[in-house]
Amino acid sequence: MSDQAFYSSLQQKLATLKDEGLFKPERVLASRQGAEVVAQDGRTLINMCANNYLGLSGDVETQEAAAAALDKYGYGLSSVRFICGTQTVHKELEQALSSFLGTEDTILYAAAFDANGGVFEPLFDENDAIISDALNHASIIDGVRLCKAARYRYANNDMADLEKQLIAAVDAGKRHKIIVTDGVFSMDGTIAQLDKIVELAEKYGALTMIDESHASGFMGATGRGTHEHCGVIGKIDIITGTLGKALGGAMGGFTSGKKEVIETLRQKSRPYLFSNTLAPMIAGASLAVLDRISRSTELRDRLHENTAYFRQEIARIGFTIKPGTHPVVPVMLFEAPVAQKFAARMFDLGVLLSGFFYPVVPMGQARVRVQLSAAHTREQLDTVLKAFEQAGKELGIIKN
Ligand SMILES: *Cc1c(COP(=O)(O)O)cnc(C)c1O
Repeated sequence: MSDQAFYSSLQQKLATLKDEGLFKPERVLASRQGAEVVAQDGRTLINMCANNYLGLSGDVETQEAAAAALDKYGYGLSSVRFICGTQTVHKELEQALSSFLGTEDTILYAAAFDANGGVFEPLFDENDAIISDALNHASIIDGVRLCKAARYRYANNDMADLEKQLIAAVDAGKRHKIIVTDGVFSMDGTIAQLDKIVELAEKYGALTMIDESHASGFMGATGRGTHEHCGVIGKIDIITGTLGKALGGAMGGFTSGKKEVIETLRQKSRPYLFSNTLAPMIAGASLAVLDRISRSTELRDRLHENTAYFRQEIARIGFTIKPGTHPVVPVMLFEAPVAQKFAARMFDLGVLLSGFFYPVVPMGQARVRVQLSAAHTREQLDTVLKAFEQAGKELGIIKN
């Protein structure tokens, strides 16, 4: 406690963040997660900013499955997986994820952040090349940093640039090459062109990896993910994803792929070796979620209906959106202060939304990001659309 300058410099930096409007306050909920939430002040809000795509966070069936696993397996293990932290429920979930994703084996982590943080370093070294999309998630960027492989970056979703980088890696004589991309990019709702990526991988003898955090459970005809959506099931080498978004929403992550890849990660992946096992109630609830969405596509279908309806109606009112089909709908407001004012006004009108601006998105591309859920009713969406119309007119974004 003798370096006062350290604390004053932190205070200064925090004050600067606040001055620049870049400080991120927490919004405290007094209720469970859902299509409607209760704010700390007691107001009920329609929630349009959760990654709760299938509406399973806060869902009673999910909760009951967690309670059953809690009852059977207890609260926790006080151990990493390989010492005494593996229960039958963990092995069952790994198997269920493998068959859901169409892979040979799966390894669980405490978070997708850990899955991505621990996937590269055990598998690749300085003789290899990682070719990564410029907009990949922070956890992929950090994971790549922890690995000695040469780094190549291609412009977001730009297949010509990807090919250029593949050629550069081949010319540099790299041994193994892996193309890494988010299956879906969360700021834009852009879907990676996995069919083309697989073609390029075949042409240049590269491996492929996708992060399915914004896709597992609802992309593709049966919700298996972006690889199903793009018709390349069985052609992706490594799949990472989260249990903390559509697949129940608590926490947890996974890496899935060929047996020898997963076995290597079990031996060498540091977040797996040196961090506690996933709580059994989360593993049990995730199993129930996979079973539920494998038996019926009802939730997935409702999500896509809600998405199509919202995308059509918000454009009809006169807002500009990034075109697409994903339940992430960026409503473009372009200027940061407009996005901030808009989100604040929507909050007053009873709609919880998040504004994004530089440096999270490029300068001049400020937006509010709407995320649809299977849990939203048509009435709730109509209420939200009315609020958009009102706030849009008040702020002069759309015409009267
Ligand atoms: C949310 C997200 C993660 C992190 O998931 P956690 O399980 O919360 O750590 C990783 N990658 C992508 C693409 C994400 O959207």
